Amino acid sequence: MGFSNEQLERYSRHIILKEIGVKGQKKLLDARVLIIGAGGLGAPAAMYLAAAGVGTIGIVDGDVVELSNLQRQIIHTTADVGKAKVQSAKETIETMNPDITVHTYQTYVHSQNILELIKDYDFIIDGTDNFPAKFLINDACVMAKKPFSHAGILQFQGQLMTYVPGEGPCYRCIFRDPPPENAVPSCKEAGVIGVMGGVIGSLQAMEAVKYIVGVGELLTGCMLTYDALKMKFRKVELPEHVPDCPVCGEHPTITQLIDYEQKSCRILSEGKN
Ligand SMILES: [Zn+2]
Repeated sequence: MGFSNEQLERYSRHIILKEIGVKGQKKLLDARVLIIGAGGLGAPAAMYLAAAGVGTIGIVDGDVVELSNLQRQIIHTTADVGKAKVQSAKETIETMNPDITVHTYQTYVHSQNILELIKDYDFIIDGTDNFPAKFLINDACVMAKKPFSHAGILQFQGQLMTYVPGEGPCYRCIFRDPPPENAVPSCKEAGVIGVMGGVIGSLQAMEAVKYIVGVGELLTGCMLTYDALKMKFRKVELPEHVPDCPVCGEHPTITQLIDYEQKSCRILSEGKN
């Protein structure tokens, strides 16, 4: 299948797995994953996907690296403070694996650019930390029929679910509308344990790898929650089909993308709101 000796060695621990093998590794090398947000979730997701040999990785983030990011955003280093996050992330993962191509988009997602950003990718990772972005990513992925991994982290709690078109509920099936502004505190206001991004962001990367290779069961139709203080993972079953979902239901009422907050472009990157 045209692997170089170096690639056979680099990916040998994948290739030896019967679930992946040479075929699965080829699928990974041919795959394109877009990571929205190069923060607490996006950093570990990008690093594991790069190490795994996902051939094309896109990273969207309009922010620059701040010192307070480094407690959890492990793709950036002290020397990167002040640098664009997408640039810092690109440098880290290109150093890790020269096999991969990294595309950077130094912008925030909004209703006017998101469909264009996601259109050439096979799987989307939502690594943002605010509700306007999460609903926007959901709606855009439903409309464009793109699978994506949703995740959220705060304090010692994390959650994630996977949406695959036609296979279970979307994020809006479960959370109909964004909560009122200030109803839910942000990581900046309420804090987040740094390792949480590593746990949940790595699980997002795992979902992407499984989707690409086509093995195992995805988190479609259920929400995985993680309580770090109690050391409890729970898999909450979600309704299989929500006929009145305003975006993926039988009679969608949301047919255009919504920018919930005028100022959302300021706060899309984890750690910045
Ligand atoms: Zn839905």
